[in-house]
Parts: sequence; structure tokens; C-alpha cells
Amino acid sequence: MTRERVLEILQEAGVLLEGHFLLTSGRHSNKYMQCAKIFQNAKYSEELCGELAKLYKDSGVEVVIGPAIGAILISYEVARQLGTPNIFAERDADGKMTLRRSFEIKPGQKVLVVEDVVTTGGSVREVIELVKENGGEVVGVGSIVDRTAGKVDFGVPYKAVLPIEIESYEADSCPLCKAGQPVVKPGSRKIK
Ligand code: ZN
Repeated sequence: MTRERVLEILQEAGVLLEGHFLLTSGRHSNKYMQCAKIFQNAKYSEELCGELAKLYKDSGVEVVIGPAIGAILISYEVARQLGTPNIFAERDADGKMTLRRSFEIKPGQKVLVVEDVVTTGGSVREVIELVKENGGEVVGVGSIVDRTAGKVDFGVPYKAVLPIEIESYEADSCPLCKAGQPVVKPGSRKIK
């Protein structure tokens, strides 16, 4: 799939918005991404997760895992296309990433860690640790969107369907403010 087609899908799915946005960090940006919207329609998740599955089809993946809530559906769909089981990690009462619901990773099992969008990679790192604690072998990390600008090293291969850099500006030096364009706060909680 070409980068153009990926961007087209993200715009069609309402994931990638263009305008003038106030981020929770207080910075302004001309783009905003709401990755959860990919999974609102099976046709988009099927196409994008299919691209991700292709990147790991020869890696011997035995189970796919992602951090809840954002990565539950991507874990499901990538695993479906790889023909493997899928599970998800979630935080316990102390905020530690853990396996619940009788999910387990067997010693030596080859595990693919997935996430919808990776920015700092914090949750992904916690899931990698969790897999290792359970004796699993992380074969790689995969995401739909990669916003790390190549600055994150997980110690295992990391592949993404769409590496993209989104510029942001301090409010007082924002070119969109200078152009008089009204700023909008996107309808979401935390911006990853
Ligand atoms: Zn602005």
C-alpha cells in the first residue's frame, strides 16, 4: 500500500484532521489524529491492520498483544490476519501493566507487541517488560502510526504502517494564530 493510500484512508476514516488545534500540552498544531476512529469501521481496520500483519508475516509470531484500551482492536485484527491468538495487557489497581482474564504467555512463545500510535513508546515498553517477565520472546513492535521520528529504540525491530511527523508550536509563536485562524480543542481526553 502506498503512503498516499494510507493517508487517504486516515482522512476518509476521520482519523487525520487538518485545521488549527489546541493540544493538551498547550501547544498548537495544524493536524490532529484520533486513531480510535480507524476501528469504527471494519473496512479501515482490515486494510490498515492487514498492512501491519504483512510486515510480520514471516516472523513466526505465535501471539499478538497490545495495551488496553487503544490497542485491543488492533491486536485482534492483526492476529486474525496472521492466524494467531491475541490478548491484551491492562493496568492493575497500582497502575502496573498486567495480564488478567486468564490470559497467559507461555515460556519461549514468540510475541508481537502492537499499538495504534506510538509517540514516546511508554506503554509499549511496559508491555515488552510484561512479555519478558512471563518468559515470552518479543519478535517485534508494530503500530499503525509512528510519531517517534526515529527517536525510540525498543531493543527489538519496530515497524509501522505510517511514520508521520506532526509539527506543533508554542501558542505565542503559532503561525496559524498569526494568520488569525480560530483555534479548536479536539473532542478527546489525553492526546498521545
Ligand atoms: Zn495557534
